[in-house]
Amino acid sequence: MRRTLLGVAWLSLYLFIILAPILLMFLPPVPTGRSFWVELSVALGFVGLTQIGIQFVLIARFKPLTYPYGIDVVLKYHRQIAVVALLFVLLHPVLILLEHPARIVLFNPFGGTYASKFGLAAVVLLLALTVTSIWREKLKISYETWRLLHTGMGILALVAAQVHVSLAGLYVNTFWKQLIWVVSSVAMVSLIAYLRLVKPYLQKRQPWRVVGVRQEGGDTVNIDVEAVGHDGFRFHPGQFAWIKVGRTPYTMEEHPYSFTGSAEKTTRLSFGVKALGDFSARLQALEVGTTVYIDGPHGAFSIDRAQAPGYVFIAGGVGITPMMSFLRTLADRQDPRPIILIYSTNEEHELAYRDEIEGLKDRLDLETVYVLDEPPHDWAAEEGRVTGQLLDRRLPKERFTRRFFICGPSPMMAAVEQELLADGVPRTHIHLEEFALA
Ligand SMILES: Cc1cc2nc3c(=O)[nH]c(=O)nc-3n(C[C@H](O)[C@H](O)[C@H](O)COP(=O)(O)OP(=O)(O)OC[C@H]3O[C@@H](n4cnc5c(N)ncnc54)[C@H](O)[C@@H]3O)c2cc1C
Repeated sequence: MRRTLLGVAWLSLYLFIILAPILLMFLPPVPTGRSFWVELSVALGFVGLTQIGIQFVLIARFKPLTYPYGIDVVLKYHRQIAVVALLFVLLHPVLILLEHPARIVLFNPFGGTYASKFGLAAVVLLLALTVTSIWREKLKISYETWRLLHTGMGILALVAAQVHVSLAGLYVNTFWKQLIWVVSSVAMVSLIAYLRLVKPYLQKRQPWRVVGVRQEGGDTVNIDVEAVGHDGFRFHPGQFAWIKVGRTPYTMEEHPYSFTGSAEKTTRLSFGVKALGDFSARLQALEVGTTVYIDGPHGAFSIDRAQAPGYVFIAGGVGITPMMSFLRTLADRQDPRPIILIYSTNEEHELAYRDEIEGLKDRLDLETVYVLDEPPHDWAAEEGRVTGQLLDRRLPKERFTRRFFICGPSPMMAAVEQELLADGVPRTHIHLEEFALA
């Protein structure tokens, strides 16, 4: 209930802030003699610009803000609304031009007015920002380079747009209107300082130390860390944290990893890391005693947010990590509810944590279904993919009351979700975790 109320409150505030510039525009003194199209274009520009400012709030990882929705949903919204905001911003010059094509001179970067030059710079930066985000992989931009570019271009675009508004001056024509615009923009951009300076400062005071590095199945390595000189933090099973390694937490490089450990242990955290690229290879090579910095907990993928008479966990590959947190937590809580774990990988040796999962059957009402795409000759369990027929065979009749948690490669998650929906499982009973935020 608290979560819903907070969610509605943030949404209402969001809508108010988005529309506030229009109210501000029409506070006297209002410029006279302007056509409807110019007024509309300015209103769209203001709304688009405010949305872009709010983007900085969305990525600041404020727990009270992300709590009702989950940070993954907030970041997804950040990505999707960026396109809408860009459209609004683009409509601003397009409408002005359509009304008087002679205004094309304003689009000459070497001509026009200072106001038009800054406006043009803001539009170009926003276009570049959107293109590099949507087609990052096609453009072969590494995640780290993209992140630096994204932050830099975002700040520059907002500053250029702000200067454009101030120089154009017509709708922010009093000291108070100017002040409100400048203060709100500075506040939004300064959230980057919170994320990149204040958070690392707090992390430096609460470091974690690697106390165990263990090879699990396939190419997954389990890493245990312990709080150094502080009490750690509480988390919900299935949540995740951003990890930084190296001498200082003041680094841009941090990567998200799900907790694999029990949520009942607050000073000790565990992660299961699959080697993918540079960072995961560095994590896998960590030595006992190394300091790491952790920003968490984050995320809404948790059984604690979805009470049910029983659970079905469906994992593909490294998607087993949040499920390990569920299983270990439920075991520590001596939870009697029935659980089915469906766990698929390509080959048998890729099944991580298998011995421990089997051992947990002594402490849980747990049934396991291992599914291999390329099984050995003597494989007695399931083979192929997690299909509708497999689910039909393995799920109990009262499956509709259970909650389903799915984590794995995107195509697998989409296929399983479709099968469950087609089978009649309510959408609200299906919870998905994507291992991709960008
Ligand atoms: C919520 C969440 C939980 C995750 N949990 C686990 C886990 O338990 N175990 C595990 O092995 N992996 C997990 N991942 C994936 C893990 O974050 C990426 O594998 C890792 O960041 C790859 O970095 P790299 O440098 O090794 O590889 P790269 O080759 O640099 O990156 C591979 C891909 O990972 C993504 N990625 C890279 N850097 C980041 C970053 N800083 N933030 C977000 N995405 C990034 C990008 O899509 C990139 O294309 C999780 C991801 C998310 C979003």
